[in-house]
Amino acid sequence: MPAAAPRPATRMPRADVGPFLQAIAAMRPDAQTELAFTDPYTLLVAVVLSAQATDASVNKATVGLFAEAPGPAEMVVLGAEGVSRHIRVIGLWQAKARNVVALSEILLRDHGGQVPHDRAALEALPGVGRKTANVVLNVAFGEATMAVDTHIFRLGNRTGIAPGKNVREVEDGLVARIPPDMLRQAHHWLILHGRYVCKARRPECWRCAAAAWCRFKFKEMK
Ligand code: SF4
Repeated sequence: MPAAAPRPATRMPRADVGPFLQAIAAMRPDAQTELAFTDPYTLLVAVVLSAQATDASVNKATVGLFAEAPGPAEMVVLGAEGVSRHIRVIGLWQAKARNVVALSEILLRDHGGQVPHDRAALEALPGVGRKTANVVLNVAFGEATMAVDTHIFRLGNRTGIAPGKNVREVEDGLVARIPPDMLRQAHHWLILHGRYVCKARRPECWRCAAAAWCRFKFKEMK
């Protein structure tokens, strides 16, 4: 059965956005990315590998990959074929292997082997789009960015916190409407809430601490 499309919700009043987020944060106060990484480079590679793959499958693949290639120089030596050996369990592995090696070459050539703290430079890397750049800027560099994945896109529309027709509209709505002091962590709260409670097919509204502020019209409360 295909995942349900976001149902139209009325926009959540701005005054409710903070309390809604506080409620889902209380369910997961230590929310953070579930990808395994040790530094900005391994985070970047893990996020590139995570497109259309679960974090759990990426973590399984990167245990061996990062043991053999913990930095860009080792990754270039390993080459696309060597990277492929580790990541065959995840989707799009051939293109991802090529991108990981190519981006490592660029980091060595143009950035002294470091991950740049710069959106344009990040988005210029192979396999890195706006969402990946937002994750790296948020998690590695502490910026208040909002990476809109499938969960956040659904929540933005379903709850009314930031309805939008495409991911950029939802991202801009969230950045504009979330209180600035909550924005950085909100990325993690929303992803985990979508993954474990506000699920695609059947949101578990009966155990949702934020139900009082959510504008979804079809809540099942028992
Ligand atoms: S009340 Fe239901 S639809 Fe609203 S955020 Fe909670 S789980 Fe999602």
